[in-house]
Amino acid sequence: MKVIENIAPPDMSAEFVLETMGYAAGRAPDRVQSLVRTGLEGVRSHALVKAVCRRIPVEVSGGRILVEGHGSLDSRMLKKVFSPCTHVLVFVVTLGPEVDRLVAEAENDNMSFAFVLDAVASRMAEAAADSMERELTGALAPGEGATLRYSPGYCDWPVEGQRLVFSILDGDRIGVSMTGHCLMQPRKSLSGVIGVGPRHMVAEAGNACKFCKREDCDHRRD
Ligand code: SF4
Repeated sequence: MKVIENIAPPDMSAEFVLETMGYAAGRAPDRVQSLVRTGLEGVRSHALVKAVCRRIPVEVSGGRILVEGHGSLDSRMLKKVFSPCTHVLVFVVTLGPEVDRLVAEAENDNMSFAFVLDAVASRMAEAAADSMERELTGALAPGEGATLRYSPGYCDWPVEGQRLVFSILDGDRIGVSMTGHCLMQPRKSLSGVIGVGPRHMVAEAGNACKFCKREDCDHRRD
């Protein structure tokens, strides 16, 4: 198991955050722009980004995704994705407890700012997971390829899949615990699994949305 500490908070512009909040470029009211800029500074200065990860063998057998020594990953959609995989990369990344505290303080004080802070922190946690994914997949052996990243709660993988993640990783190493409802504490934490296998086969199978007929899904990835 690898623990990575002192990760620099991901670089993110106010324009990007505003766009993800639904504002077309340059169309957000001045007050909202100002709240987002202040929120970004606040989250950046309070984030203590840490991650824990592990590579572990996986096999799709008898219609189940079996993670060596840790039971099964229960998702019908992901069976096809992981079928060519030999391993999974499992990780948890967190912005740390101070960001949660900052949002909670704002909730007592200024709900508009708390809403913006929460949105900024969520985007930053997502960006931290993106950079984690790049780092992990950038270190694969020659000839290996990676699937997209999947988190418990994504598509038909129930949020209870978090139990599998926490049976593989020791969240305490980075101060992250799982609640009774399979959420994470600190809240601005993300977990995920990425399948690894022969590059040409994984390139074909790595995106579950390619095999899915649900045209109206808002979470479809290309
Ligand atoms: S399109 Fe939607 S429902 Fe289908 S696999 Fe992708 S995320 Fe899941």
